[in-house]
Amino acid sequence: MSINKNNLTTSWGAPVGDNQNSMTAGSRGPTLIQDVHLLEKLAHFNRERVPERVVHAKGAGAHGFFEVTNDVTKYTKAKFLSEVGKRTPVFVRFSTVAGESGSADTVRDPRGFAVKFYTEEGNYDLVGNNTPVFFIRDAIKFPDFIHSQKRHPQTHLKNPTAVWDFWSLSPESLHQVTILMSDRGIPATYRHMHGFGSHTFKWVNAKGEGVWIKYHFKTEQGIKNLTEEVARRIAGENPDYHTEDLFNAIKNGDFPSWKLYVQIMPLEDANTYRFDPFDVTKVWSQKDYPLIEVGRMVLNRNPENYFAEVEQATFSPGTLVPGIDVSPDKMLQGRLFAYHDAHRYRVGVNHQALPINRPRNQVNNYQRDGQMRFDDNGGSSVYYEPNSFGGPTESPEHKPSAYPVSGMADSVAYDKDDHYTQAGDLYRLLSEEERTRLIQNIVNSMKPVEKDEIKLRQIQHFYKADPEYGRRVAEGLGLPVPE
Ligand code: NDP
Repeated sequence: MSINKNNLTTSWGAPVGDNQNSMTAGSRGPTLIQDVHLLEKLAHFNRERVPERVVHAKGAGAHGFFEVTNDVTKYTKAKFLSEVGKRTPVFVRFSTVAGESGSADTVRDPRGFAVKFYTEEGNYDLVGNNTPVFFIRDAIKFPDFIHSQKRHPQTHLKNPTAVWDFWSLSPESLHQVTILMSDRGIPATYRHMHGFGSHTFKWVNAKGEGVWIKYHFKTEQGIKNLTEEVARRIAGENPDYHTEDLFNAIKNGDFPSWKLYVQIMPLEDANTYRFDPFDVTKVWSQKDYPLIEVGRMVLNRNPENYFAEVEQATFSPGTLVPGIDVSPDKMLQGRLFAYHDAHRYRVGVNHQALPINRPRNQVNNYQRDGQMRFDDNGGSSVYYEPNSFGGPTESPEHKPSAYPVSGMADSVAYDKDDHYTQAGDLYRLLSEEERTRLIQNIVNSMKPVEKDEIKLRQIQHFYKADPEYGRRVAEGLGLPVPE
């Protein structure tokens, strides 16, 4: 009898005779080690988890497409942006940052907003957040920053003292802290939030001319947020609220969409702009660099399998295509290493060959072997370069654009150090009701902080952003208003 699809098989394809009773020495005897099907079943189960992401562990994903709606070819030669109407398949993963993979969706936390474009010239990953800025601006601070957001080493509890201690000693975080504590710190769903590339990137056109850019995905569903009270209730009732919302919306044909815009800065402006445009704790004012439309992204297909598509999806800001380059943003530079490194640890060295991650075009290179090499591993083709056997060769026209650098090799801070103006600008653009909720959210979050010294230090930062901002937080905490 041949095996058909109704036959349960072992992982080596042999039919299984009994999947309910293990093999024992007599009906009451001990279990036999010769029941290899049992051994394999138990052993495989023990290995079902890959390490969860150290950040962005809880997430949801969906497939869709990106369609160009405006001609941007004078700025970039990226093929997927070369024609109005051109469509490129995408996979998107949204996430919270600090919690574990089973944690509640409706917490106050930035949201990851990672997009993989499967372009004809390789994959392009835009690995951003739902906020235009970040807490720190140098990757060397990232492990400490995340430690402060994670659990206490003894109690295994979240630790507001560590959170505010780190922020108060890292005042560059003030702008992002203000966004996080504002209404947008808890989006109503993944569909009702914007996405940002956050860093500065470079676009390069067919003539080799570059511009600095920043990406903005604007939700077409409109911004909607949850109040702290409602978010807390939902976290108890349905910790997977955002995950479920995204899946059900797509299942019901209510496809979420975003418009993509860029801000464009001429390269030479970077030397004279009023702050360092590569500093990821700052936005570029839209009055200086208005939004220019690029296209529209629609999510219209749920994953078939969560583990295969969402858990194994591996994004990296270093996954670039010709026409899109990096900038000297120190946070971005660190991420160029950290993301693929995390995936090599978490998923394996051949993670880019998995179906969800592999490009739609052919991969031609001399990388061979490694754990779980599940394709033909290059077959018998030439496996080194240079070679005399017609193997793939580089194409110099696709080198990233060159740019001049100067100065001493040294560990140096960003040279223009205003942490306060933009946080204050944001405070001042909020309505009175929004300010009241912002202050209340901050006060609630800071109350459990163990040392007044930390609270007072942080209040001074709020005060420097806007005296009213500092005064109201101080009053809420029953502490003196700074002079
Ligand atoms: P603009 O008036 O041109 O832009 C204001 C921006 O603020 C809009 O993008 C608006 O987004 C956004 N915004 C409104 N409410 C909130 C909120 N609660 N949380 C986060 N963003 C919000 O001014 P500027 O460009 O000169 O920027 C002024 C301030 O606006 C900045 O200091 C910054 O804090 C904030 N901001 C600026 C952005 C930028 O890229 N320039 C992007 C996001 C925020 P929307 O249109 O969706 O309401």
